Amino acid sequence: MSRPTYAEVDLEAIRQNLRALKTLLGPRVKVLGVIKADGYGHGMVPVGRALEEAGADMLGVALVEEGIELRVAGITLPILVMNILPANEVGAAMEYGLQTMIDDLRTAREIEDQAGRRDTVIQVHLKIDTGMNRLGIRSEDTASAAESLREMKHLALAGVYTHLACADDENDEVTRRQLARFDEALRGLRAAGFQSPLLHVANSSALIAQPSARFDMVRSGLALYGIRPCRAAARVNLRPALALKSHVAHLKRVHRGEGVGYGHTWRAQRDSILGVLPIGYADGYPRSLSNRGQVRVAGRLVPVVGTVCMDATMVDLTDIESPHVGQVAALIEASHESPLSVEAVARLCGTIPYEILTGLSRRIPRLYR
Ligand SMILES: *Cc1c(COP(=O)(O)O)cnc(C)c1O
Repeated sequence: MSRPTYAEVDLEAIRQNLRALKTLLGPRVKVLGVIKADGYGHGMVPVGRALEEAGADMLGVALVEEGIELRVAGITLPILVMNILPANEVGAAMEYGLQTMIDDLRTAREIEDQAGRRDTVIQVHLKIDTGMNRLGIRSEDTASAAESLREMKHLALAGVYTHLACADDENDEVTRRQLARFDEALRGLRAAGFQSPLLHVANSSALIAQPSARFDMVRSGLALYGIRPCRAAARVNLRPALALKSHVAHLKRVHRGEGVGYGHTWRAQRDSILGVLPIGYADGYPRSLSNRGQVRVAGRLVPVVGTVCMDATMVDLTDIESPHVGQVAALIEASHESPLSVEAVARLCGTIPYEILTGLSRRIPRLYR
């Protein structure tokens, strides 16, 4: 039994999006599927399995716990933890065969020590900061860092990567500078004797908009879920995979002039019939959609009225012909063209699709097709 507020996830769309990216990239470029944050809200384990089936080369998460959950579920693909690794999680990362990020020499030494004590070798990916100014060894410090890394016999350098700050612009000066710095860092590594680690730079927007950033592997999240990460993505056949649905749980007649909900931020201009949907901001339906959002009921867009509550949202059904309890209400539709696409909903909230998707709470059952 599940509540009648749910996210429908089309795993075939995700598999197809992976195939579309692989077609675009050709056979020499690998794909790491990014499934951190519960697979961008789509469900990490089912998405991980779908990507494994469809031929992803690697999976990327942000937390060791996420990697462990994938291993426990039986996923055998290489998994990279692409975030700061706390010292007390190094052991678990090794135990579950997770590859980890090194973003400074202190982390490297910590991992080296712990791997040494276990007499094991751990596969690591060196993160270079080429201008994002977040994580990573600064490109100009790479050569000297490489000298130190060479002495760490329990670290196997499986990959070297960086992250782009402005990847969605095809002619971006920042990206060109970042790629030049990445090159500089690679020269430093080669000089220290590191010959052929896997190089990866591009996220979803860069892999589409910046062919020169593809290197050996791309790290794609958003595009795998069918969301267009940049303008240029319209030419790739990406199918959104998630729809958010609820239903009319209750009909409420209000008289002209009556206020509705917390703060009475909406007042009926006419005698009205409202529908109460059992979904609220605790489910991840943003409160900023109060008096601004729309949902589709019986094929028609109807407005959200009043403030979105923690567990409920009111919509105006006055213009719907014979509204009734049980009618399905779509809050997010799996279509680029819909005014209820994730992109459109995010724009209305002043945010990005990533935040809407990852904000869908665990209270929302995911139903897989
Ligand atoms: C989340 C993440 C990605 C995926 O970015 P998308 O824009 O969703 O493709 C790639 N690389 C790193 C390091 C990330 O943290």
